Amino acid sequence: MLDTPRHKGLRKKMIAGLQAEGIADQRVLEAMSKVPRHAFLDKAFAELAYENRAFTIGQGQTISHPYTVAYQSALLKTEPGMKVLEIGTGSGYQAAVLAELGVQLYTLERIKPLFEKTKPLLKHLGYAKIKCFHKDGFEGLPALGPYERIIITAAAPEIPKALMDQLAVCGIMIIPLGEGATQKMLRITKVGPQQFEQETLADFSFVPMLKGEIG
Ligand code: SAH
Repeated sequence: MLDTPRHKGLRKKMIAGLQAEGIADQRVLEAMSKVPRHAFLDKAFAELAYENRAFTIGQGQTISHPYTVAYQSALLKTEPGMKVLEIGTGSGYQAAVLAELGVQLYTLERIKPLFEKTKPLLKHLGYAKIKCFHKDGFEGLPALGPYERIIITAAAPEIPKALMDQLAVCGIMIIPLGEGATQKMLRITKVGPQQFEQETLADFSFVPMLKGEIG
């Protein structure tokens, strides 16, 4: 899909809106100013892609609000070259933002039709280095770990043990925790091989993180 001057203009406005809402991380804002969010949405929503809204991406799932993507990306405190694991590829938008931040990204999606749609889309948009897997995020991807950063983009009912294990020492995991209508965003820092520190942050509303692969 073409990235027209009009799209670029709308994206600038979106970035200004994020700043007005308190997103101050310049690297995240710059990364988000590069990703054509409209290309991750159904054509029907392309005109609305830069509004701070979530949209359906099929299979009962949604692309996160730009504010949520910005918030989680900033909390993650990435540095270029870091190994990052994302749970919940979905549309691939958050994955593309992380790729623009220069990390080495591994992303897992449990729903096969979403995986099959998003993997080629990311490649087509120039994000061929992102490694996509059709896998259950509760298990993580132990063979390629540990990860310096882990980001969960679905509402987790608990902190998955496997992901705690796959987080590198000094690593950070961002996880929306809870089974109700809203979840608390947590930032977990692994301070020792078995020691974790936890910060409880703002409320968000994500689709649920569910066990097992489907499709
Ligand atoms: N990061 C995505 C957000 C999509 S919504 C984006 O930017 O569009 C959350 C996604 O998490 C959905 O696609 C859902 O299918 C997926 N998901 C839920 N539970 C999962 C699990 N256990 N493992 C992997 N993906 C999961």
